[in-house]
Amino acid sequence: MRLQDKVVLITGGASGIGRAIAEGVAAEGAHTIVADLNFEGARIVADSISDAGGAARAIEMDVTRRRSVAAGLDEVWDDIGPVDVYLNNAGINRPMKFLDITEDNFERIISVNALSVLIGTQEFAKRVIRDKRRGKVINTASIAGRSGFPSFAPYSAAKAAVISLTQAGARALAADGITVNAFAPGVVATPLWEQLDKDLAAIGEEDSGFAAMADGILLDRPAQPSDIVPTAVFLASADSDYITGQVVPIEGGMILT
Ligand code: NAD
Repeated sequence: MRLQDKVVLITGGASGIGRAIAEGVAAEGAHTIVADLNFEGARIVADSISDAGGAARAIEMDVTRRRSVAAGLDEVWDDIGPVDVYLNNAGINRPMKFLDITEDNFERIISVNALSVLIGTQEFAKRVIRDKRRGKVINTASIAGRSGFPSFAPYSAAKAAVISLTQAGARALAADGITVNAFAPGVVATPLWEQLDKDLAAIGEEDSGFAAMADGILLDRPAQPSDIVPTAVFLASADSDYITGQVVPIEGGMILT
């Protein structure tokens, strides 16, 4: 029970990687807050954690809106207690061929994947500092932040921004007792990829899809969401107290630099 008595909030907790992490931290004793734009989905995850004997609460949160993030945090702080760990995990991808990318596409992808990390980190850190507590921020980056992909350049740019915000946040908040780390998954079998494969096929880019991306992974298979959980639990727990500003790749051997 490495997270006993800790309050852990995860954005995008209704689906895929976020859901697996929510269930994983709950199994380690955390009071788990499942935050998502999809409140019904978050409720299903929170109910399933409670049914399994864990402690969980679903909250509706739009990570692109400061007011929504602040209201969600205040609700948890008032009803459950201070949040110890904040996972900026919500994300989307909408592929377009490089020469077709629009301002709307770029701004939406940057907003959900990167601006959300700035807002979430700020709103969490302000409350931790106010209460003179310690805290941990964990961000979901991606291999796409370490190598730009032409069919989803805004997503790659957003995930590179997540890595930069992890480093900047670590430097900004270390003196306040807040660590900021990230993990960078490779190709993970989640609903995000089901939609991405359909969208890539629609623009004639099926060769950049799940199967093609998974081909050549050194460990010879794509990831399941459960492959991400141990690293997330480690970064959320006291075992990682002397680590900050780092990005842990979890991709079976894809980018070796
Ligand atoms: P997913 O689509 O299964 O889950 C994403 C969740 O984010 C959904 O529940 C969705 O409702 C929520 N969300 C979307 N916009 C939101 C908003 N504005 N406010 C709050 N919640 C919002 O996707 P996933 O594959 O589990 O992805 C989770 C994270 O992992 C994302 O940041 C993604 O970029 C990243 N990632 C995924 C992969 C992969 O291969 N699946 C690889 C690397 C990184």
